[in-house]
Formats: sequence, C-alpha cells, structure tokens
Amino acid sequence: MLQGVLIALFRFFRGGGRQVFPPVEERGPYSNSVQYALLQLASVTDSSSLQDAIREALQTVFYEVDSVYVYLLDAETGRLWCEEPPHELPKDGRLRDVVVQQRRVQCEGLPSSELQEQQRERLTEPLQQDKRVLIIPILDQGVTNALLLVCCTQPTKAQEQSLDVLERHVTVACKRVQALQGQRLTQGLAVNRKSYLSLTRMTTPDVDYSVLDHQILRLCGELYDLDAATLQLKVIRYLEEQTHSLCCCLLLVSEDNQQLFCQVVGDKVLKAEISFPLTFGNLGQAVEKRKSIYLQDVTQEEHQQLNSTLGFEVLSMLCVPVECRATTKVVALACAFNKKGADRHTEVDEHIVQHCFCYTSSVLTSTLAFQKEQRLKYECQALLQVAKNLFTHLDDVSVLLKEIIAEARSLTSAEICSVFLLDSVSHELVAKVFDGGVVINEETELRIPADQGIAGHVATTGKILNITDAYSHPLFYRAVDDSTGFRTRNILCFPIKDEHGEVIGVAELVNKTNGPWFTRLDEDLATAFSIYCGISIAHSLLYKRVDEAQFRSQLANEMMKYHMMVSEEEVTRLLTVGIQPVGEIYPSFSSFTYTPRSLSDDSTPTAIISMFEDMGFINTYKINMHTLARFCLMVKRGYRDPPYHNWMHAFSVSHFCYLLCKNLELSNYLEDIEMFALFVSCMCHDLDHRGTNNSFQVASKSVLAGLYSSEGSVLERHHFAQTIAILNTQGCNIFEKLSRKDYQRMLDLMRDIILATDLAHHLRILKDLQKMADVGYNTKDPQHHNLLLCLIMTSCDLSDQTKDWKTTWKIAGLIYKEFFSQGDLEKAMGNRPSEMMDREKAYIPELQTSFMEHIAMPIYKLLQDLFPRSAELYETVASNREQWGRVSHKLNIKRWPGNDSLDYLDAEFEQLQVEQNGQTEQGGQDRQTEQEMDDETNGSPPAQPEATARQPGVMEN
Ligand SMILES: [Zn+2]
Repeated sequence: MLQGVLIALFRFFRGGGRQVFPPVEERGPYSNSVQYALLQLASVTDSSSLQDAIREALQTVFYEVDSVYVYLLDAETGRLWCEEPPHELPKDGRLRDVVVQQRRVQCEGLPSSELQEQQRERLTEPLQQDKRVLIIPILDQGVTNALLLVCCTQPTKAQEQSLDVLERHVTVACKRVQALQGQRLTQGLAVNRKSYLSLTRMTTPDVDYSVLDHQILRLCGELYDLDAATLQLKVIRYLEEQTHSLCCCLLLVSEDNQQLFCQVVGDKVLKAEISFPLTFGNLGQAVEKRKSIYLQDVTQEEHQQLNSTLGFEVLSMLCVPVECRATTKVVALACAFNKKGADRHTEVDEHIVQHCFCYTSSVLTSTLAFQKEQRLKYECQALLQVAKNLFTHLDDVSVLLKEIIAEARSLTSAEICSVFLLDSVSHELVAKVFDGGVVINEETELRIPADQGIAGHVATTGKILNITDAYSHPLFYRAVDDSTGFRTRNILCFPIKDEHGEVIGVAELVNKTNGPWFTRLDEDLATAFSIYCGISIAHSLLYKRVDEAQFRSQLANEMMKYHMMVSEEEVTRLLTVGIQPVGEIYPSFSSFTYTPRSLSDDSTPTAIISMFEDMGFINTYKINMHTLARFCLMVKRGYRDPPYHNWMHAFSVSHFCYLLCKNLELSNYLEDIEMFALFVSCMCHDLDHRGTNNSFQVASKSVLAGLYSSEGSVLERHHFAQTIAILNTQGCNIFEKLSRKDYQRMLDLMRDIILATDLAHHLRILKDLQKMADVGYNTKDPQHHNLLLCLIMTSCDLSDQTKDWKTTWKIAGLIYKEFFSQGDLEKAMGNRPSEMMDREKAYIPELQTSFMEHIAMPIYKLLQDLFPRSAELYETVASNREQWGRVSHKLNIKRWPGNDSLDYLDAEFEQLQVEQNGQTEQGGQDRQTEQEMDDETNGSPPAQPEATARQPGVMEN
C-alpha cells in the first residue's frame, strides 16, 4: 500500500508528465462532461453552432436546461443579434438592463412583450416553481459582447461557481466566432480588419492573418486534452512550426506569483518539473512588465544558465508573456529558441505567439486550474494515506519517526528531513533518527538546546519557518555545512504539536529538490502533515510509557514471585507430617466455639490441608498433595503483616467456612464446586492486603487504585488478581485436574465470592438476601446460589464476632490499631481521616456497638433465618454486642481516656472480667476461667496477640 502511495505522490509532486492525470475512468462523470463541453466550445466557429455548444455546456452544469438563446454583438452595427430565431435584442426592458448593468440576473420569467413568439412558452413569467430564467452578460474589455438567455432549474451554489468558469470559456468562444464572422463578411475587404486587429492587437502587415487564423482554428480543434502537459506539447509544436524555432517551451507562473516552472520543453515532457524564482534575471521583468524580451535582453550569466538548463546552445530567443484573458494576469512566458534560417527572432514571431495565445490561453489556464484541483484532491488522499501509515507504527517511536521523515520528504520533495523530539525535562531537542533511516543509539543521539538555532526557534515560537536562503538567515548555523561539505540552500522547519497544542517536536526539511525553495503549498502541506505527526507521536510516546509500565510491573511481579517462592524443603516438611485428622488438631476443631486463632502460625498450613481432606476436596478434585502444600504455603506467604488483615485472619475465615460446611450441611444447599470455591476464596480473599481500605487507595492514588479504581472494589480486585497469580505460579495450580469448563466456573465463582467481601457489595445485595430469606432458599435458583455464597463469605469474614467476648475484644484492638495507622497516614497526607480511623476521635465501644448492630447482627440473623441451626452464632454476636454496651457505659461514666494507645481497652476488659465474675461466682474462679478459655475456647490470650486475631474487614468503606 505504501508503495502505491509513494507512486501516487511521486506522480503528483515530481511528475510533470502524462502520469500527472488520472486515467479517464478515475475522473468523475461531472468533470468529464464539463471537459467535453468546453472542448466543443473551443472548436466552435459559427454562431448557430455556438448556441448549441453553449446549450450543451450549460447542460453539463445544470441537469435541466429548457432553452438557450445567444445574442452576439455585431461589431459593425452594434446590435445584439440572435441567430435562432433570428431577431435582435429588444431595445429596452429587462434584457437590455442586463446589457447595461453587466451583471448576471436570475428571475422567475420575463414579460411576454420582451419575448419572441417561440420563446414565450418557456420564458414568460411566472415560471414553474423550480424553474429560473438566467440572463448572463458576456463581457470583454468592458463591453457586453454577448448575452445568454437561459431557462433552467434553479442553480445551486456549486452550479453558480461552475457557471463562472463556463462564462470565461464562452467569452473566448464568442470572440472567436465574432472574429471569424467579421472575417467572412469582409472577405477581401480591409474594412473590418481594424476591429479584428484591435482584438488581437496585431499591427504588423507582414503577418498573413487569414493563414494564421486557419492554422489556429485547427489547433483549437485539437486542444481537447485534459492534462496540461499534452496540451502544452501541441501548443509548443504549433509555436515551433509557426515561428520556425528549434525548440519552444512554456514557463508557467506559479499561483503565488513567486516562481516559474516548466513541465514541457520542445517535444519532451520533463520527468520532474523545473522551477526557478521569478526574480530570475530578465524573465521576471518580462512577467512584471508584460513585455516580450529577446536574447539580447538577457545577461551573459543568464544566457549560460539557459544553455545548461536546455542542454543546447541558445543562439536566439523570444520570450512572450501570456495573459489570462479572464484575469489579465500573466500566467506564463512562451519561449521560442533558435530561429531556423535566421539568427534572431522578430516582431512577426512575437505577433504569431501573441495571436496563438489569444485563442489558447483560456484553454490552457482552465486546464492548469483543473490540474491543480486534481492535485489538491490527490494531496488530501496522500495525507490520509500518510495518516494511515503513521498510525500503524505507533508501537515504536523510532520506526514511526523514520516513517514521518520518509513521508515528509516525499510530500514536499525535500533533500533531507530531520525530526527532533522535545525533551521537556532537559529542555533539549533530541534527534533519534536521521535521514536515511539510520537509527542511532542513546550515546550518539544528537541533542541540541531547545532554544537555539532554527529548530530551537520553531520549538520556542511554535510557528512554521520557511527560509528561502539559509546562509543569509541569522539563525542558521553554518559550521555544520562547512565541516561536512553539505550545502544547505533552503529550509522549511515546522513544529509538531500534541492534541493540546503543546510543541512536542520539530521537523526540518532541507533543500527543495524541484524548486528554488519551499512554497506556500509546502507550508500548507507541512501544517496539515504536522497534525498527523503530532497525534501519532504523542500516542506513540504514551504507548511506550504504557509498555514500560507493563514491563516494570512484570519485573516487580517476577521479583515478588521470587521472594515469595516456597522452597521444596518447606513443601516436603509440610507433607512429612501427613494429613492430620481434624479431631487430632483439637477435639472441638469442628465446633462453632472453637477459636482457630488459638492455633500457632506454624500449624495453620497443616490445619488447612486437614480441612481440605475432611471436606473431601482432595479426593473429588484429584488434588496433587505437593501442589496443595505449595499452594497453601504460597497463599500464607502472600499475606503481609498488618495488625489485622494478615494470614491469621484468612485462616480463621477459612476455618469458619469449614465450620459452616460441616455444621450446616451446606452440601444440601450448594454444589460441591461452589463449596470448594468458597473455601479457597476464604483462604485468598485478603491476599496482599496493605492494612488500608479502598477509600485510602483512591485518596492516596495508590498503584492499586490506578489499576482498579474505575471498576470499584479496588482491594478486592487486587486480592483476586493475586489469587490468579499464585494459581499461575509453577506447581501451585490446585485446579489443574479440573475440566476446562469447571476450571472456568471455579475462577468465575472465586471472583464473585472475593468481590463480595467488599462490604459495599454486601450492602448492595442486602435487600435481595432479605428477600431470599423471606421466600426460603431454592436450590434450583442459580441466583439463590450466588446470594448464599456471598452471605456465607461475609459471615466468614466477620466470624470473629461469633466467638467469645475475649476474642471479640482482642480483635477490636487489632482492627483499630490498623485503622489508626491508616488515620495517621491520612493526616500526614493532609487529609482528615474518618472518625473511626482517627485515634484522637474514635470512641471504640460506640463504634463497635454500632457496627455490630447495623452490620454484623443482621448478617447472622439472615443466616439464622436460612439455617436455624446457626442460631447460636447470632446469639453470641448479640451477647457480645451487649458486652460492648456495658463497656461503653463504664467508659461513658469515666473521663474520656487520652488514648494514644489501645491499652485502655485491655484495662477495661480486665476490670469488666472481675466485675462479671464477681457477679456470677467468686473471685477464686478467675484463674480457672481464664485457663479454660486458653484451653478450650478462646485460646487467644493477651500473651500472644501479635500472631493472631483479626476480624473481617470491619466497616471497610
Ligand atoms: Zn477479610
């Protein structure tokens, strides 16, 4: 595809040749028929066929033309005469007004008194709604030379514009017909010669105009080509023949009047058009002064230059300015070289050339205009293609820059192109890629200060800089050229901006190859091009940054995995014990009163494996024991060590899940795979918790928030991602034996269950849970399965609340320790922590009471509704809440403790114990009670607080 574009661009910007024009079938039907009509016009020689040709031409502009009448000025009588039907334009009335006012008029018909019999049917006012009468004066040098009376559909804006173009052609055609009429009428008589001669401004008697007219007519009939080059070939051949010159050419004046360019010399269409500044010697004078020049008028130096450009020795020369009849602007210089059979060109030759362009300049200019239009169309297409090319290289800046350089060069025909990117940190312009596609490494990349030189100037001002003569420009640094021998002639330097208009780079094009310097057109192209560059570079850099970020995170992941790696030794050690029956871990291991936190940290993996075995997962899912052991150790290691959200929390949550499975016979409610997912989710549900909650992640703009904040439940998503990361670690996938379908189901379940640990999620589904409890659980309803899984997960997460008071009490201490340290961080960040995170404001007993009343108790109440056997859980939670009330009451009586630490909680607890015991039994029982707790139920005495206790994400908001 690129090649295609390059060829198209090449044709466009380099080719002056036949290829410049697209083949006929590529042209729209519109331009095609217009060209044909213009051609008809160009070959008309009598007034009756003129009327037909004009009608035909108008029909190409308007879809429907009902009638056309042409009134031609008879130079002799001054009448405006129509041939068909033969009549003269009325002496007064609206038509006559137009002749005088010389402005095109559109109306809804004419009074019948102004019309001939034949015209009345179609032109009498009022016309049908969509029809209009156009009265078009054709002017020549201030005189209304002809008048067109047209009835057609109402013209659109575009049609009006086409009409302007057409009008110019009609002008020329009318003049030709008039001239020929005059000639016919005065055959042999010199009477009318005068008016004819005044038309062509020829006064030399040596010219045989009747012969010339005949010749020029033949030429006009041949000028039907659509491309300027072929057209020029014909005109040039004519000039060569008529002026007896060895070679002729046309130097066309560029649109901006700054350059002369040449596409055809003699019988050759140049491969690349030659152009030179209009100030070039006396040629510029010829354009400016509209005066022909001869060889003797040019300097020796110019003569030499002509010789070398043309490739032959110029012995004689005639150079005639060609005016556009419509605009009277000089559009070209017609040059004839080396008169045959004489040593110089004469005035006769000059008149022959003038005579020729009197008829052909219109066709020539319109064809050039048409060609320019085509060129612009192709430019747009080329730019679009450029955009496509650029956007396919976003993944690599170097490749993208190379692409930009290649495109910029070919778009503007520059010898060299360099692209600099702005390094805003060091304030330097950096060239990573040099012309020719040489990619240089970091050490040799070129860096220049961002405020120096031409590129620096453009980077600073953000404005395009077109320098026609580099050496005379104050900003140009010549030393490089001096040292390399390269000659910088001209420079087009343009800024590349991002979407916000900030300069992100600069492109520098050096030495226009097909012209003296870069043109306005090049500037326009560069401006358009730079927009695409800017967007693509900005995106490419972004792409690179994302890429780097991904790489960094991959690296961090690998490092983490490395440090997390569980050694074979550890795995073996865990397995040598064998699977311990749950009853051997502790007699009441399977009862709700058992406190899993009483187990030592080291024994937790063994206990997990025992639970796996007891629930039948190892057997059912054919779990490899090594894999299971490695998985458990990896999960344990995946937890950090904040006061509460650590592995012991995950372990106690998992144990509670085991308790529910065992005691509530969950297998009657849930599928095997759902229970399996539930248990593993409990183990993993807080992986890599950092001891801060979701709102903290967002407020502190943490990495996790960056990853997940758009989806909500930032931490929970991270916990799940960590779970997947562990499963994907070599030798850790306990689900490896699952079928593809079950595997997918397992991951889906785990994601849903882990995301449900966000209390916000729980609150969202609370209504649905309530409804389910009301109508009763339906095992056939998949939504009930999902809801139950979420409810069980939350019950497990908060299960510390279902244990004895002492456990609850201790857990609160751990939770608030974690909360307060987040509060401290928030204060350090200048934010105000919420009350429960603020160690100076939090009133724990009240917060706990509120939490238990509004969150915990409703959960276990729901559980009780669904599973009456779980009633004892709700009762324990309720009694713990009572205890908090009592503590609160006591603290309320006393003065508010200056609680820098949580010690007051312990002190209060001790006192409460004493009081309670005093109420029930005797003081002597204290020790026993405590011992009992240690042995049987609580097992988490204050002696070992570090390694234990926490409660599920209480009030994580
Ligand atoms: Zn948790």
